[in-house]
Amino acid sequence: MSFSAEVKNELCRIQPAKACCALAELYGMVLYASVLSGQEIRVYTGTPRLSRRILSLSEAVLGETLPWEVSGGEGRSSVALTDREAVKKLCARFDYDVSSQVAWHLNGWHLIEDCCRGAFLRGIFLTGGYAADPEKGYTLEISGTHAALTREVSALLGEMELSPGCVRRRDEHVLYYKDADRIEAFLTRAGAHRAVIRLMEARVIREMRNRINRKVNCETSNQFRTLDTAGDQLDAIAALRAAGELERLDDTLREAARLREEHPEATLAELAALAEPPVSKSGFNHRMRRLTALAAELRPEKKEDR
Ligand SMILES: [Zn+2]
Repeated sequence: MSFSAEVKNELCRIQPAKACCALAELYGMVLYASVLSGQEIRVYTGTPRLSRRILSLSEAVLGETLPWEVSGGEGRSSVALTDREAVKKLCARFDYDVSSQVAWHLNGWHLIEDCCRGAFLRGIFLTGGYAADPEKGYTLEISGTHAALTREVSALLGEMELSPGCVRRRDEHVLYYKDADRIEAFLTRAGAHRAVIRLMEARVIREMRNRINRKVNCETSNQFRTLDTAGDQLDAIAALRAAGELERLDDTLREAARLREEHPEATLAELAALAEPPVSKSGFNHRMRRLTALAAELRPEKKEDR
């Protein structure tokens, strides 16, 4: 099941707390119907559960059963109201007079109380919403077909400190969020607490993975640095041997050279531990520096080149 469907399923299980909230939720659903006109209200719900939600809220709000036409099964469900009188009656409940209606505006007096605003978010997400799987990225969108309405819903969200981005996509006006904080805040206000927990978990995992990647990159580059230094040391040892100087060095330096040649990939700390008697890392480092310095003295001409 997609994350969107999961969120919608969760929202469908919430019982509206009060009559005002049932109205606000249904209001949001109707405003974000796929088709909203004075002749027809049609919602592609996708699931029978959401279709039932619309029917039961409409019955609770109006106190009567409207002639909703229900069709399709799982994945293709939709509900439609095509009876003119029924459309008129439902819209009148939100203070629209569809016999004279030209543009759809947000009637904000249905959305004054905090409880109703949360229910309204639930409604608009249920019919107009999409949320990306949090493992793949953070996106929450509400798509509607009416421009003025989109602006006014955007302003309402702004008042709720949930200012969305806004983009036109073909015939749709899309309000969207791309940051996890606001998506979490939106879903919390709508009541989708389980979805919020999933988002938070995905976020923790993603942050942890980033941290691990950074650490691995850092360790890899340290390892390269070790190999680089070891390469210089091996060159120095080879030069000393070629010049016949290696045999003339004292025991500790010869041992250091031998250990480096036997363990080209070892770190200084590892080599220091192998020395007999063991020596501190800085002590071993001193021996290595001594070897490279002696080798450098063998090739003064190279120094001048640099
Ligand atoms: Zn309310």
